[in-house]
Amino acid sequence: MKKAVTLDPNKTYQKLPDHREPIGLFVSPSQYIQGWGVIGMLGEYLSLCISGGVGVVITPGRYRVLGDRIEKSLSDAGLLAAHTIFQGESTLAEAERIAAFFRKSGQPVNALVGVGGGKCLDAARMAASRLAVPVVTVPTTASTDAPTAAHAVIYNEQGVFVDLEFCATNPLLVLVDLEVIAEAPPRYLVAGMGDAFSTFYEARCCMENPAARTTRGGRPTMAALAIARQCRDVLMEYGVAALEEIKGRRRGEALGRIAEANILLSGIGFESGGLAGAHGVAQGLTVCEDLHRNCLHGELVAIGVLAQLVMEKRTQEAAQAARFFKTVGLPLHLDQIGFDPARRGADLDAIVRSALGVFFIRYEPFELTADLLKAAILEADAFGRSMA
Ligand SMILES: [Zn+2]
Repeated sequence: MKKAVTLDPNKTYQKLPDHREPIGLFVSPSQYIQGWGVIGMLGEYLSLCISGGVGVVITPGRYRVLGDRIEKSLSDAGLLAAHTIFQGESTLAEAERIAAFFRKSGQPVNALVGVGGGKCLDAARMAASRLAVPVVTVPTTASTDAPTAAHAVIYNEQGVFVDLEFCATNPLLVLVDLEVIAEAPPRYLVAGMGDAFSTFYEARCCMENPAARTTRGGRPTMAALAIARQCRDVLMEYGVAALEEIKGRRRGEALGRIAEANILLSGIGFESGGLAGAHGVAQGLTVCEDLHRNCLHGELVAIGVLAQLVMEKRTQEAAQAARFFKTVGLPLHLDQIGFDPARRGADLDAIVRSALGVFFIRYEPFELTADLLKAAILEADAFGRSMA
């Protein structure tokens, strides 16, 4: 499979300008707008920085519910708009299809707006790179921290991870409508909290290990670490309240705090802070077809957080994480994600092998062997069961 866009920021940012010290690197979206009903303002916000026309890539479900409002908002702001429905998988072929659609649309497309879940946003990001225009992301759940990032995850038609594709820059605008986020099933918000909770521990691991680099190849900055720490603190303070608000269909301040933590704080925190053990284990778990299919990313990351903290022998923080996971309904042990390690020894070995193949798991500050990682996953599992 050939990549149409081959930008490798790591090659540049890993260079040592004075042949000794790596650079610190902080990246973020240009604008982040969050509020109730902001989708109806999309066109006006965009008209501050874009003229002519925009393309919209949107999932079928979101088009039915939000299509009219988005189109009206764009046309009221004097922007021409064409849209295409996302076909369901973030593949290179889908990115090419979207780019070709807008090239042929006969209208100016000066930005590409993705509206939907993570895969739709990733396909929009890749298509925007091919059209050489900025991307605007409008996440419709707060389930991951991917909307702010400057790279997309490529899958094949079967939904299996293929590679990352880097974009030149982060999104021009990330627009988070709390009305839309509040309508999504609570499980998505909870999964987003799992993804976000890991951010501080992974960024700290990278900050403390001089060999570690962020996703784009620089060293973490203090700004990213501070944002990641704030992310964790906000989750512990407002996580339960945010869930109560959406379950009770009440509009309060906690949902906004958690949406910002899950999307903005976690997004900047991971991209400019770096990933480590928790995401390595989470990615390893996806080699099991059933886990890949049945679990949300953030649920697997929660399992990864406990494994990382157990490996790092940070017992108090592991207990704090487990208590938080329990109160918001994230998994604390493998049985809660439908995996019985006693019966699936071969699968567990495959998970360990796969996790060790993820480069950033090596940023953990010790020689990580298969035996050590397997022992940590099992120890974290036993610990999680004791806390459940
Ligand atoms: Zn993640």
